[in-house]
Amino acid sequence: MSMTLALQRAIQATPERTATVFHQRRQSFRTFGDRVARTAGVLQTLGMQPGDRVGLLGVNSDRWLEALMGVWWAGGVLNPVNTRWSVAEIVYSLDDCDTGILLVDDHFLHRVEGICASAKRPPRIVHVGDGPTSEGMLSLQALVAGGAPVDDASRAASDLACILYTGGTTGFPKGVVHSHGTLWSIGIQRLAQTPMPGDSIALHVAPLFHMGGIGRALVQFIAGQTHVLATGFDAREVLQTIERERVTDLLLVPTMLQALITHPEFDCFDLSSLKRMVYGASPIGESVLERALALLPDVEFTHSYGMTELGNATSNPPQNHGVQGRASGLSRSAGRATFGVAVKVVDETGQELPRGEVGELIACGPNLMLGYWNKPAETARALRNGWLYTGDGARMDAGGNVFIVDRLKDMIVSGGENVYSAEVENVIARHPAVQACAVIAVPDARWGEAVHAVVVPKPGGQLDDAALLAHCRSLIAGYKCPKSFEFRAELPLSAAGKVVKRALREPHWAGQS
Ligand code: ATP
Ligand code: MG
Repeated sequence: MSMTLALQRAIQATPERTATVFHQRRQSFRTFGDRVARTAGVLQTLGMQPGDRVGLLGVNSDRWLEALMGVWWAGGVLNPVNTRWSVAEIVYSLDDCDTGILLVDDHFLHRVEGICASAKRPPRIVHVGDGPTSEGMLSLQALVAGGAPVDDASRAASDLACILYTGGTTGFPKGVVHSHGTLWSIGIQRLAQTPMPGDSIALHVAPLFHMGGIGRALVQFIAGQTHVLATGFDAREVLQTIERERVTDLLLVPTMLQALITHPEFDCFDLSSLKRMVYGASPIGESVLERALALLPDVEFTHSYGMTELGNATSNPPQNHGVQGRASGLSRSAGRATFGVAVKVVDETGQELPRGEVGELIACGPNLMLGYWNKPAETARALRNGWLYTGDGARMDAGGNVFIVDRLKDMIVSGGENVYSAEVENVIARHPAVQACAVIAVPDARWGEAVHAVVVPKPGGQLDDAALLAHCRSLIAGYKCPKSFEFRAELPLSAAGKVVKRALREPHWAGQS
């Protein structure tokens, strides 16, 4: 069952409904579907065979979605490229996937020469943008205009659909293989987690090349609803677009949500169309969530926990974000296992732990990746007996609600005590002069690892070690309080808006064994 079936259904059922909105351009499902079928025809004319990998390097746009569906319609496997990657990283991924054709949008044409010069087997470059095409390069728009639509290749559920790279937060990104079947599961599970009665207009702000963004797009395709595309995250533009397009659904990572609600013009826009907000992908500061809930009282908030390897594992529904949920602490949970998923918290040997104890979260369901591309050892470590080992530390309460405590790699073991960096970050973020922070382990002769905080003060905010330490001491145990502080203007963020802690840790650990 190919993902393209979702599009076919929308074309038949609601041909005149708006499929995509990108700046001033609107396309109905009829037009979008026609372009997808023509794009597939172009790819086949260029020699793409079923199962071949096709790369896509571009920012969020309607053309990105056409390329995605066009590749699937032609029977290919999409390899979306992270737009933040260097040429060397792009080439690594293209070579890794043996990508025959690379679709490049207007923003990345300047990268093409470098890519072709260093790739082992330079891919065929096709320009997918609407701007002028470089000399000698194929233009998809011209070929689509002159070409003919072809029939859907109708791939099977077990056929590969895409190779998505992980966020690269903890190490070099890994290619995660999903089939049409696992993607259908991911889309349906998300739809079940956040039902959308009535018409939905979703604004895609999170990058489509990550699971968060593409997974949200799948929901919209399955439901046959409208996609509004934002090139990247700009808080003002997001506010403006919500007002202009009467957006109903938004998925944001916590750093984006914070930027949105603290924007000086937040109150100047009519956000009354907004019905549902899904947040997740990294820990959220309690103060950010409280403020968001207060500022958007009519919006249903859902917390989603997931990863590239499985889409979603747990979700915390809107009812847990109300007054009661906030009082009981449930609003801070990542919620229960998503529809069709089972989760457990286990020890190092894979044994399930009693409720309340912290261990590794593992998940199983029809949404799990098939494996990491070309990485059998990593695949064997992550997928064991049908369960995916997430690498995330969590505890579960008696009601099955999961609380993510930290990535196991980010946990700090100081003097034999486990310190969860996310907990300390939450406490520091409550200080009124703190804009953002990250807590990491640094080497310490006495404690093995010591808690170290990297703090970004608010503009004009007055902060020093003593004040922050006193603040932490008043809220958490002494062994959890940072032994040292460092002040910076900003934190290194990945394309998904996550703090890249390994970049903060590296200088401290350089030279350590
Ligand atoms: P890499 O695997 O390359 O280091 P990554 O793990 O950041 O990168 P993703 O698959 O995009 O790549 O992210 C999944 C991870 O993000 C999860 O394993 C978890 O650590 C974190 N995460 C996702 N959702 C949440 C959430 N709701 N709360 C806390 N952490 C989350
Ligand atoms: Mg990961």
